[in-house]
Amino acid sequence: MERKHIFSRGLRFTLTSIYTLLFTLLLLGVSLLFRHNLESTLNDQAYDDLNQSWAVVLANLRIENDPGQANYHAKWFFDLASPDEAGISARIKSIYMVADQNGKPLLDEGAPSYSATYHSLGPPDTPAQIARVLASSQPTWVNKTDPHGIPYLIRQGAVTSEDHSRKFFVSIGKSFDESDKLIRSFTWLCLGLVPLVMLTGWVTGWIFAGRALTPVLEIARAAQRISGSNLSMRIPSRKAGDELDYLVETFNQMIERLEHNFNQVRQFSTDVSHELRTPITVVRGQLEVALFTAQTAEQYRDAIVNSLADIERLSQIVRALLLLSQAETGQVILQKQNLDLVELAEATTDQFQIPAEGAEIELTFTANARHCPGEFDRIQIERMLSNLLSNAIKFTPAGGTIRVVVDRDGDEAEIRVEDTGQGIPPEHLPLIFDRFYRVRGPNEPASPEKGLGLGLSFVAWIVRAHGGTVDVRSEPGKGTTFRIRLPLNTPPMTPDEAALIVTNT
Ligand code: ADP
Repeated sequence: MERKHIFSRGLRFTLTSIYTLLFTLLLLGVSLLFRHNLESTLNDQAYDDLNQSWAVVLANLRIENDPGQANYHAKWFFDLASPDEAGISARIKSIYMVADQNGKPLLDEGAPSYSATYHSLGPPDTPAQIARVLASSQPTWVNKTDPHGIPYLIRQGAVTSEDHSRKFFVSIGKSFDESDKLIRSFTWLCLGLVPLVMLTGWVTGWIFAGRALTPVLEIARAAQRISGSNLSMRIPSRKAGDELDYLVETFNQMIERLEHNFNQVRQFSTDVSHELRTPITVVRGQLEVALFTAQTAEQYRDAIVNSLADIERLSQIVRALLLLSQAETGQVILQKQNLDLVELAEATTDQFQIPAEGAEIELTFTANARHCPGEFDRIQIERMLSNLLSNAIKFTPAGGTIRVVVDRDGDEAEIRVEDTGQGIPPEHLPLIFDRFYRVRGPNEPASPEKGLGLGLSFVAWIVRAHGGTVDVRSEPGKGTTFRIRLPLNTPPMTPDEAALIVTNT
């Protein structure tokens, strides 16, 4: 009981932990993706802003010189009376510089044309850098940092003077401060959400895992109630059509197979006790009678001879049972070799000619194929045919016919043992391959002459161990046909495979 709860808690804990971990990882993954997208969007926006500002600079900045003089100065044409233009002008002039090729700022209405912020950014632009910017037809983008560590994006380019004689260096910039703040607050928000998500994930995961596992525990409880003595019990299906129902169904099928096997074992024990009891009682009776009534040596001798005959029957049963159980537990390993089934069947049929003649039965052999080569165990195939033939002779009256026919159908051989004997009533047909099963009248006693009822069990085992099939057709009063199909030229079976075949039967 205690173990069961530990199991359920362990599984529930594991499921919840995995769920929470995945949930958290998913959140972190999505956050990182968003953060990356946000960063690149803000970056693109900074480039766009500066490109727009540059267009405004070109439209509003004039670099002029006094007529006849070499002193150039910058002049802005913003309409400062308009709040819009005043705003744009303030924004551009917050980070800017207009300089000559040596990096010396031009004058703008008497004041140097640069902003203090621009001046505070990183190392000043060297004449070499400025020369490169002036020579290039493309804008130059530079990253700079102010003394507080705030990054700036700078766009640099050339503006030609009004007299078209010279080019001047113009630099405008934009701070990343706002973007940085936005990204930082987004990062903190995500990190702050992690414990919350973990907690929510854990609680919901715990509830859902508990709900999902409840039916499993119910199934386990139901399965615990099933034991060897009540194998007819089944686990009730939840009728949800889900995986758990499939599990229940599989489980029930397994119990059904177990029940079938248990019943077979029970039936078998009953049959064996019954089979052994009869000869033992007979032997005992004979010996008791001899002990109390026999007077002459002749009478004692008779009693001993009769008892020996019954003891022989007993050892026959024991030997046959031992062999069958060895076969069915995979202990009899087939000694397969490449043999021709036509030859083998013909030779075995020949061995039955004399008993057939004795019973005044015509026994014929027909092969519709020249060869049927395959991997067979000679002794077992002979035993299989012998069992079928001795049955046929036993159950066919004088004047009847027995035909053994071998056919080939692709990579399978078919052997038929047909007789014109008494036949088997249809209600017995499904049972004749069971151990100890004999067709007899309700009051007809078991008799050694009629056999032990084990012959066809052997036939069935031998056929299956060779990977084949056996079936029977019979009409009472007309005759019986046993039909066996065996694969030809199949690779030899390993002992494990043979054991598997017999345990599955
Ligand atoms: P047994 O060793 O008693 O013959 P088997 O397992 O070989 O046992 O056969 C089981 C029963 O099937 C037999 O008792 C018999 O009633 C029936 N049977 C088998 N073969 C034939 C046959 N060729 N014709 C009629 N009945 C048969």
